[in-house]
Amino acid sequence: MIIVLRPDATEEQIKHICDKLTALGVKVNISKGVERTVIGAIGPEDVLRTHPLETFPGVEEVMAILKPYKFASREFKKEDTLIKIDNITIGGSRIIVMAGPCSIENKEMMFELGKTVKNSGAHVIRGGAFKPRTSPYDFQGLGEEGLKILVEVKKKIGLPVVTEVMDTRDVESVVEHADIIQIGARNMQNFNLLKEVGKYRKPVLLKRGISATIKEFLMSAEYIMSEGNNNVILCERGIRTFSSDETRNTLDLSAIPVLKRLTHLPIVVDPSHAVGRWYLVESMAKASIAAGCDGLIIEVHHCPEEAFSDGAQSLLPHKFEKLMQSLKPVAEAIGRSF
Ligand code: PEP
Ligand code: MN
Repeated sequence: MIIVLRPDATEEQIKHICDKLTALGVKVNISKGVERTVIGAIGPEDVLRTHPLETFPGVEEVMAILKPYKFASREFKKEDTLIKIDNITIGGSRIIVMAGPCSIENKEMMFELGKTVKNSGAHVIRGGAFKPRTSPYDFQGLGEEGLKILVEVKKKIGLPVVTEVMDTRDVESVVEHADIIQIGARNMQNFNLLKEVGKYRKPVLLKRGISATIKEFLMSAEYIMSEGNNNVILCERGIRTFSSDETRNTLDLSAIPVLKRLTHLPIVVDPSHAVGRWYLVESMAKASIAAGCDGLIIEVHHCPEEAFSDGAQSLLPHKFEKLMQSLKPVAEAIGRSF
């Protein structure tokens, strides 16, 4: 249910409604808009239906949310969600770029690449410490040691950092060390992991599963939000269509406007994992901005042929710089800043 409050509803009235609902076993989620506050109430149908919610002081209207995802839906919140991290905002008019290597390989390379991507205009540094690899014999990441490197990089370079968490047992540590927690495509439906990151308020970059529908993608966002964490950033990273030698996956560009209609959450695109080839990244990055995404996450490596993972799709630093310059006019052409 969506409980729309009167414009003059007081904090006390809001608290009264929330306390009452919580005592009935209903999950509440408050969304404070520019004009009015809305309370999302998710709980047993009979409790919600039999309780005269309209009679609570401060309530103007009560409506059912028809979509299976509730807190993630535009029905619940009309305005775009803005996620603030240090001095950047994801979901606003500025396009945000996250960049860095696929894996954290050592401290020196992270410092160098961090500096380079910052100089080219990136806003967030990426780097995986826990790596989801198709083969158990491939490099699995530096783990905790990688997280420590990320913290030092953040301190030295002064940009926020994003890194993946794969296991519920590592969530606490990743939350402590990173500014954005990434849930990888392979874990999009790891519901225990989603619920665990939902307990914190750290922004979560949720990647679309390899063959996930839009509805499944939004239901995964709902898992995080139903635990109270509204800071979810969706990431389209290409889906599996049919076997193709030319691209690693198929970038679902239409997912961007589709998601914009269905949800208020910001949408970031990962062209690197979508195409899997460095020479295709620039076109798809431009197309994603033109289609209305709020940001990009791009893999960059100083020596792709020696990268521990995803070298084929990693841009050399000078190619990344050129890409960044080419994105600005595309963003400006559709009224976005870069
Ligand atoms: C990554 O970001 O390095 C990664 C493994 O991404 P995905 O989960 O989208 O494959
Ligand atoms: Mn990668």
